[in-house]
Amino acid sequence: MHKLCMIGTGYVGLVSGVCFADLGNKVICVDQDKNKIDKLRKGISPIYEPGLDEILKKNIRDDRIEFTSNLKEAVKKSDIIFLCVGTPNKKNSLDVNLSFVFKAVKEVIKNINSKKIIVTKSTVPVGTGDQIEKLVKKKKAYIISNPEFLREGEAIRDFIYPDRVVVGSNEVKSKKILRNLYSPLISKGAKYVSTNRRAAELIKYASNAFLATKITFINEIANLCEKTGIDVEDISIGIGLDNRIGSRFLRAGPAYGGSCFPKDTKAIVSTADKFKSNLSVIKSVIKSNQNRSDLLLKRLHSIIKKFNNKNVSFLGVTFKANTDDMRDSSSLKIIPYLSKKGAKIKYYDPTGSKKEFNNLKNVEYANSIQNCISGSDIIIIHTEWNDFKSINFRKLSKNKKLIIYDMRNIFSPTKIEKLGIKYFGIGR
Ligand code: NAD
Repeated sequence: MHKLCMIGTGYVGLVSGVCFADLGNKVICVDQDKNKIDKLRKGISPIYEPGLDEILKKNIRDDRIEFTSNLKEAVKKSDIIFLCVGTPNKKNSLDVNLSFVFKAVKEVIKNINSKKIIVTKSTVPVGTGDQIEKLVKKKKAYIISNPEFLREGEAIRDFIYPDRVVVGSNEVKSKKILRNLYSPLISKGAKYVSTNRRAAELIKYASNAFLATKITFINEIANLCEKTGIDVEDISIGIGLDNRIGSRFLRAGPAYGGSCFPKDTKAIVSTADKFKSNLSVIKSVIKSNQNRSDLLLKRLHSIIKKFNNKNVSFLGVTFKANTDDMRDSSSLKIIPYLSKKGAKIKYYDPTGSKKEFNNLKNVEYANSIQNCISGSDIIIIHTEWNDFKSINFRKLSKNKKLIIYDMRNIFSPTKIEKLGIKYFGIGR
């Protein structure tokens, strides 16, 4: 049993904290946001993540996890301290804003009462661990990099059954302790990658940059498919079956978004620039992805012609299914654009209404799929929730000129067209 402190109870800190508790450790989760702590103490998760509520409640009941805003006490009572705070980009910059990390580090250092292990789980640029180490005087703590690879929407499963656990440390003692902490996952098949600290920091950015590249690659191939009368789904299958390529992250769709890929691709470029190394591929990926929303808006123009007074139903607004995370979702570009052009938009998301759209003209939240679709001229499917896959469009809409723009290719074009509905997908 290890005594752990998680600083930051967001998607990473909360999920890791709850899962570490479930593995039998004693966990104290700290957040500066008192509202989050109040909710968590009552067993209510402030984020939507499938399966999280159940294991949160179970571990509170079994007294393995507690929540506090008192960082001082939490640090004193713990042996291993995980930094799980946000690392967004600085405003209008490729650089990472490390202020949350260093604020937390300084508070931790102030309150160290015995030798600790400080683990950076936040995604941080190469050399951040070295900077933290310089702040820790008299060798009162080991500094480790242990990047997190969980995906929102699959976070619990990804944490418990990760492909790999990466631990970067420049000495042996803390490595052994971390290996021991992760041993229940390693014994279930997770590969354990032990590296030096800088390599672990870069592994995280290189992984995300590679995945973003894969998505952008298939999105550009989808553009070519649209011009050549080919279905990109056939291409994804045809190339994905090559083991060297692999089929995952080869689904064409809107611009990639979320809390990681947009910021991490920029951050790795910023790091490379500092070391005078040119990451030209990743620079192209960033540019292509930024252009993608404009490209889809152009496509929408060619489908709808005139937006004014058109009834648009928007299904799913988060950056992907099974999460409530709106960060960098392409809906944040598409919905305001449609509103500006005079369309009347009703949107539905299984995780509820979003404050981001509160002040937009003619944008309202519909509390069910049915209410969202009724009276619609065009239905835009923006995320691939299972809830949308079995919609009976003909039952819910009597509009004879109904159009569907399926941005996730979840429907078969022929089946939809058989219903007398005009269908548009991505790259088909
Ligand atoms: P988040 O914004 O959801 O959560 C961060 C939390 O930290 C917030 O609740 C905030 O209140 C808290 N916080 C900030 N400063 C604090 C302080 N000094 N003391 C106490 N609490 C503090 O962030 P997230 O999505 O969980 O991401 C955290 C890190 O993990 C980032 O570096 C991110 O890149 C990385 N990461 C995220 C994901 C993901 O899917 N979200 C996956 C892998 C890695």
